[in-house]
Amino acid sequence: MAGIYLHIPFCKQACTYCNFHFATSLRYKDDLIAAMRKEIVAEKEYLKGESVNTIYFGGGTPSLLPIADCRLLIADLLENYPVAADAEITLEANPDDISTGKLKAWKTLGINRLSIGVQSFFEEELRWMNRAHNAQQAIGNLQLARSEFDNITMDLIYGSPLLTDGMWMQNVQRAVGLNIPHLSCYALTVEEKTPLHKNISLHKTVDVDSDKQARQFLLLMQWLRTAGYEHYEVSNFAKPGFRSRHNSSYWKGTPYLGIGPSAHSFNGMERRWNVANNSAYIKGTSEGIPQRETEVLSSTQQLNETLMISLRTMEGIDLNKIQTTWGENERKRIENDLKRYVSNGLVKINNAHAQLTDEGMLRADGIASDLFV
Ligand code: SF4
Repeated sequence: MAGIYLHIPFCKQACTYCNFHFATSLRYKDDLIAAMRKEIVAEKEYLKGESVNTIYFGGGTPSLLPIADCRLLIADLLENYPVAADAEITLEANPDDISTGKLKAWKTLGINRLSIGVQSFFEEELRWMNRAHNAQQAIGNLQLARSEFDNITMDLIYGSPLLTDGMWMQNVQRAVGLNIPHLSCYALTVEEKTPLHKNISLHKTVDVDSDKQARQFLLLMQWLRTAGYEHYEVSNFAKPGFRSRHNSSYWKGTPYLGIGPSAHSFNGMERRWNVANNSAYIKGTSEGIPQRETEVLSSTQQLNETLMISLRTMEGIDLNKIQTTWGENERKRIENDLKRYVSNGLVKINNAHAQLTDEGMLRADGIASDLFV
């Protein structure tokens, strides 16, 4: 089993908090698609013939891409990789790009899951984030998408300075009310080199309040549990049967191939990432000299990565698997390090799996890094 990720590095405008790789001009779009098509063919052996069970168009904003380009990319994938008949094919879409025509066209291409970047249903917050859509589009086009697609996930952001607990409840209630079967909810983070970071440094906007973020996350867990969602990863909630197969395969260590600038690939042993620059990517790929870096993961790095990723999931760290792969001493060391988290109620041991409690979820990455070799 394997997955393929395609990075579409274009956006209408820059959201203030975003540090993904994207350009706001479509000037090099045709050259970029040509280079991605070349990379699809050039990397056809990377997954060693494994069946491709998930394809994910991420970005950037893949919904900006003309249907004809999506069609070419999907046709190339089907021609060069053994894509399973029931593969999950996800496309990230922003609400302002959604129309009945596009929804029907995406379906015809085989796209069977939409990931919609809503973030908030409040106009003042959308403006503050510099999102390209407005609140009316968020609600109206989400309903439209719901009429064509069963399998939809949407992103929401909590912990922004403008978001009160009452507004947060309304955002979550609206998503639940629209019967969206999967939600990804992220705390607003202030990344360096973003407009948000600059605005905070210049005191043009207030900083995020970590206590408020923690409180809104705890509320979110309660609300969504009551509404019948499974909290299957720190930031991800799904109705039964609607977990993201693509993201779940990342968390299980399944190999994946990344196509496009800044896209990452993993084959079980090494991780590599393409240059995060459209011109350099186009030039390198077109000339057959791909611009990318590679890191071979040592056994220790693989263990640390397994601890970090699996602790964030509902299943938690499989201690038997740790023992089988890294030996009994490693298991004992980890069990010993976990004791203090178990005694202070942040971790529970369930059937040889170390799982985070709700409070533990707030400190997932800190606890995982404490367990690192
Ligand atoms: S649309 Fe998405 S990728 Fe583009 S700037 Fe906004 S958050 Fe970043």
